[in-house]
Amino acid sequence: MSTASHTDVAIIGGGPVGLATALSLAKTGLTVAVLERAPTPVWEEPSFDGREIALTHHSVNILKTDGAWDHIPETAICPLREARVETGKFPHPLRFDTNGRGVDALGWLVSNNQIRRALYAAAAAHQNITLHSGVSVETVRQNPDHAVIHHTRGQLAAQLVVGADGRFSPTRQRAGIGAIIHDFKRTMMVCRMAHESPHHNVATQWFDEGQTIALLPVNGMASSLVLTLPPEEIQRLLSLPQDDFNKDIMLRVGNRLGTMRLVSTRHAYPLKGVYAHRFASRRLALVGDAAVGMHPITAHGFNLGLKGQETLAEDVARSVSKCGDAGLASGLRRFEQRHRLATAPLFAGTNGIASLYTHDGAPFRHLRETGIRLADAFTPFKSVVTSLLMDRHAASHQQS
Ligand SMILES: Cc1cc2nc3c(=O)[nH]c(=O)nc-3n(C[C@H](O)[C@H](O)[C@H](O)COP(=O)(O)OP(=O)(O)OC[C@H]3O[C@@H](n4cnc5c(N)ncnc54)[C@H](O)[C@@H]3O)c2cc1C
Repeated sequence: MSTASHTDVAIIGGGPVGLATALSLAKTGLTVAVLERAPTPVWEEPSFDGREIALTHHSVNILKTDGAWDHIPETAICPLREARVETGKFPHPLRFDTNGRGVDALGWLVSNNQIRRALYAAAAAHQNITLHSGVSVETVRQNPDHAVIHHTRGQLAAQLVVGADGRFSPTRQRAGIGAIIHDFKRTMMVCRMAHESPHHNVATQWFDEGQTIALLPVNGMASSLVLTLPPEEIQRLLSLPQDDFNKDIMLRVGNRLGTMRLVSTRHAYPLKGVYAHRFASRRLALVGDAAVGMHPITAHGFNLGLKGQETLAEDVARSVSKCGDAGLASGLRRFEQRHRLATAPLFAGTNGIASLYTHDGAPFRHLRETGIRLADAFTPFKSVVTSLLMDRHAASHQQS
């Protein structure tokens, strides 16, 4: 590891959004240091963590422009052709597809560790980026004209510090920025299951009494199982021997894809939505889950994280061209306003959907069935949701 004492921008947290931020800022000619607490081998080759990320068209374009997409093997990318939402025994699913849109995929599913690996490889190859692994940040001093990070290996001064250290961001807390934290009191378990019947690149999510399940297509005869239950039930499933686990899951899923078999490690995520009260303060900006940690039900977290860092890079580039200062207060204010506009409605909407679908009383069930029937019949609504899922409006070039 090389220790730099000065850099234009210092990013705390080398997760997918921190690394994407580094690449976007480095492209504008700034020098960027990324401080990550994980050791190099873990950072460079992250292991499978169960998450399959549904990437929008716009996100794929950002990953392409940043030079990360080419590091993802083609066999690890699964196009999503249709998404279905069902509730209980109600027989009519709500369908979203690409019909009439001139493309053949709503988006692409790629596992989180592949995305992280690819972003790391792109960042490691960039001459303006210095990667510091195994670093623990102790304090961040936010002076009027620069910030200083004290960490376990020394000090680093920067015009701008970016907090990209996840939804419970120590950087956010250190800066005294509060957050709305919504505890859904549910845990999401994710793993890969092989199955007998093909998935035809269709993702299905359904809401049964007491549980929410999604099956997301991955390449081959396999899907990612996403199961949401109260925490103690997830604990029981995590500890079941493999054969018992397969039987349990088959009962929950029914015969949708034939016989199913666990083919990966199992991972559990307690569901908490987080929305920072502010995305910026003196010489500091928050991106990714540190700013907005979404409930995964609408698959927006990373996609919004990529958008946020894109917005930040644009506003920082303006500040630099105006007066050569990456941490200019007016640039940070503009970033904050734009990112709030882009995220606040989605955060509120996602929390509403997640709450509606985790309550089991009869009124909630009827509301879900009515909602799905109306939504399916109302073409403009479906069109808006499909556009949100795909997020093509800002894409500079489309997938072939
Ligand atoms: C089950 C599940 C499914 C999901 N599916 C989707 C989806 O389909 N689509 C989508 O868009 N999003 C999805 N998401 C959300 C997505 O995974 C997150 O939004 C994304 O990983 C956030 O990235 P990040 O870089 O902000 O944070 P993180 O991934 O949390 O990375 C934070 C990094 O900071 C480091 N760090 C933490 N503290 C420190 C410190 N003090 N010093 C140095 N480093 C530190 C950590 O080691 C880590 O590397 C899903 C999430 C879950 C849980």
